[in-house]
Amino acid sequence: MDTGEHKAHCLIVPLPFQGHINPMLQFAKRLTHKRVKTTLSLTRFILKTTNRLSAGSVSVRAISDGFDEGGRAQAKSSEEYQARFEQIGRQTLAELLLDLADSGQPVDCVVYDPFIPWVLDVAKGFGLLAAAFFTQSCAVDNIYYQVFRGELKLPIAGGEVAVPGLPLMKPDEMPSFIYVHGSYPATFQMLLNQFRNVDRADWIFINTFDKLEEEVLEWVTRFWRVKAIGPTIPSTYLDKRLQDDKEYGLNIFSSTTNTCVNWLNERQPKSVVYVSLGSLAQLTAEQTEELAWALTTCDKHFLWVVRSSEQAKLPTNFSEETSKNGLVVSWCPQLEVLAHEAVGCFITHCGWNSTLEGLSLGVPMVAMPQWTDRARTLSL
Ligand code: UDP
Repeated sequence: MDTGEHKAHCLIVPLPFQGHINPMLQFAKRLTHKRVKTTLSLTRFILKTTNRLSAGSVSVRAISDGFDEGGRAQAKSSEEYQARFEQIGRQTLAELLLDLADSGQPVDCVVYDPFIPWVLDVAKGFGLLAAAFFTQSCAVDNIYYQVFRGELKLPIAGGEVAVPGLPLMKPDEMPSFIYVHGSYPATFQMLLNQFRNVDRADWIFINTFDKLEEEVLEWVTRFWRVKAIGPTIPSTYLDKRLQDDKEYGLNIFSSTTNTCVNWLNERQPKSVVYVSLGSLAQLTAEQTEELAWALTTCDKHFLWVVRSSEQAKLPTNFSEETSKNGLVVSWCPQLEVLAHEAVGCFITHCGWNSTLEGLSLGVPMVAMPQWTDRARTLSL
């Protein structure tokens, strides 16, 4: 439908976590470039606390997860967060859709994160088109779907696991919630709930690309209307079709851009080990200490992202004592770091965005998978 300047209006609704906002905001920018008006909805808490939001021509509007003061950390449990987000999210999303219609910008299509599947119900209640945007790999989505359908029975029995569309796998190549059956039950339930209504979605978008997951994409295309729309990396690092598109545009944590880049500028090409475990993973103090030892004894320069909430686990005076060889920061502009000629290696927790970023920028990776989809990402 052509509404004058724009072909249509798309509302993008991610789970308000860094690893979900990044790819969906990036996709929104691509739609805008194709003359589709896009509005990104973020929670009031994220909008209040976020650093330097720069969404370009993507409009940003608020909904609520019911925790406007503290976000996910304010909820006592994952169950409480999910339940309240669904209750308050449904109301505030409906209000937003009505408000956009009243102000002459009616939404035609909702692109939603299936971690919050109730968004699809709200969209369909308004008679809108809806597309699910999967932020994890197609292999992982397919494995969870088979569990949801009861085709893959848990706990896993036997030495090999057969999942259609994928090669035979060992149990420890499965996502951690499957391999360690019963771990994080509420989060695992959320992953299975992605599929509770997915058959009503008009499209399924997956942040992947055909050459990376050819076989499994071919399989899921038999029952879903799938488009592989990844990798959703800012355009500067890929096709350069969008002008000045160098970063995703939103950092939940404060970034130390200049410090990192100035420090990297002083290093020789391919001499630095970059270490990051993403926005959520938590090592034990013992694991942090082991990693610290590995970095100090490997005789290379290192740039290590240790989020503020994790820094107490570092050995005493670690940053000061290793400052000749290393730099510890609480958050960094990861794409700029990976693209820097001084970086020769990326030690990653294998989050799907980090994996796609390392692949897209051609940085050799050392995998240190932590939990959820990560074991499977490693075997990809
Ligand atoms: N990231 C960043 N700075 C950092 C660490 C991570 O900008 O210091 C970004 C990274 O580029 C990626 C996202 O945060 O886009 C993390 O997503 P991922 O799926 O890799 O892991 P998650 O945080 O969901 O575990």
